[in-house]
Amino acid sequence: MAQTLVLGAGMVGIGTALALQERGQEVVLIDRRGPGEETSYGNAGIIQTEAAEPVAMPRSLGALFAIATGRTNDVVWHLRALPEHLRPLASYFRNSAPARHRRIAQTYARLTRRATEDHAPLIEAAGAEALIRKEGFLVGFRSPHAFDRERRSAESIGRDYGVPFAALTGDELGRKQPGLRRAMAGAIHWTGPWTCRDPGGLVAAYATLFAARGGRILRGDAMTLAPRGAGWSCTTGEGPVEAANAVIALGPWSTALTKRFGYRVPLFRKRGYHRHFAPVSGPAISMLDAENGAFLAVMDKGIRVTTGAEITGFTAPPVPRQLERGLAGARELFDLGEPVEPAPWLGHRPCLPDMLPLVCPAPGRKGLWFNFGHGHQGFTLGPTTGVLLAELMTGDGGSEIAENLAYRWG
Ligand SMILES: Cc1cc2nc3c(=O)[nH]c(=O)nc-3n(C[C@H](O)[C@H](O)[C@H](O)COP(=O)(O)OP(=O)(O)OC[C@H]3O[C@@H](n4cnc5c(N)ncnc54)[C@H](O)[C@@H]3O)c2cc1C
Repeated sequence: MAQTLVLGAGMVGIGTALALQERGQEVVLIDRRGPGEETSYGNAGIIQTEAAEPVAMPRSLGALFAIATGRTNDVVWHLRALPEHLRPLASYFRNSAPARHRRIAQTYARLTRRATEDHAPLIEAAGAEALIRKEGFLVGFRSPHAFDRERRSAESIGRDYGVPFAALTGDELGRKQPGLRRAMAGAIHWTGPWTCRDPGGLVAAYATLFAARGGRILRGDAMTLAPRGAGWSCTTGEGPVEAANAVIALGPWSTALTKRFGYRVPLFRKRGYHRHFAPVSGPAISMLDAENGAFLAVMDKGIRVTTGAEITGFTAPPVPRQLERGLAGARELFDLGEPVEPAPWLGHRPCLPDMLPLVCPAPGRKGLWFNFGHGHQGFTLGPTTGVLLAELMTGDGGSEIAENLAYRWG
């Protein structure tokens, strides 16, 4: 019998499986699809060491008015989705108050700070160096006013958390991005983050490493998880598998399962879209078009244009207006060429109202563990929270950061 079933083969599940395996456990990884084919495939691919503070909900009247009236492309919302989101969003709003957000960031910064260190040995062992670029990413601004505001904010992040950056003039940005079609006011260059040219490919490479080290990867439905004897059982394509422990790492689907066991975790989801374009003259370095709410990621498949947050139903049909707006703005900056695939991709950031992932034992159920709710930074944090959870599960260090990530709702 295996020691642990890890449910979900996204970046978080794979990070957990590898960390447990490293500590001598026999692990079975279960997913209904191949590794890294869902949210961990479709993101912008940044390993975000600069994200010392988690993404807060805007609280100024101006920002809220812009969201309410559809004047910003960063966040869009649909009226019929609001009832299901009201409670988590109200709690998110309260947690985004400056004093609370600062307190939460004390924990968050300790996670993101170590993200590249936690990825590095996996990248090397998986032979995935070719997927990684270590030149940071840019946040470009059209207006001097917005650039000045962001520069002040970057200075305070740099000072408070020791995050490196450079403020570039419009000319300096033009030299870094020779494909730019228009003059910009300037840019923040976050120099510490790494970017990945194929996020799903990196997860798949980590999964191959896990299998090469003796781990088993099975197709199965996590919703069949049930207590069995002193442990847990899950039905897979190879029949039922049993283990003493089970880890729920199902990203945005996690609460479908936790609800079955009686846990009321207020997970909400911020939808995002992407589409690739075959650039005629695209960005040389991945860049956020800040005032337009579109991120342009340099990927193997082309330039991946990704969007901010859409507040909508989990299974609501796609409304790619946010992507179209973002793309129209991005085309003012670069000649992005034709789309690579026939339709945009969509996925959901699994968010918790206090912006911290849940990394802990499930209260009251021996052998059941949680590792989900990584919001905007799960691609960054999968290996890190994998190590933290593995430390808790094996009693190997029992990291003190993990106390802050424990179960927080009754
Ligand atoms: C547009 C966009 C851009 C982003 N950019 C970044 C970024 O640049 N950097 C960053 O760090 N993060 C980014 N994120 C966030 C990041 O992608 C997520 O936080 C992260 O991928 C979550 O990983 P996960 O392993 O928890 O979930 P997932 O990758 O979704 O994995 C969950 C797995 O569970 C499986 N599953 C679900 N239900 C079942 C079931 N019943 N049975 C079996 N298996 C099941 C799924 O098939 C899936 O493989 C972005 C997100 C979006 C949407």
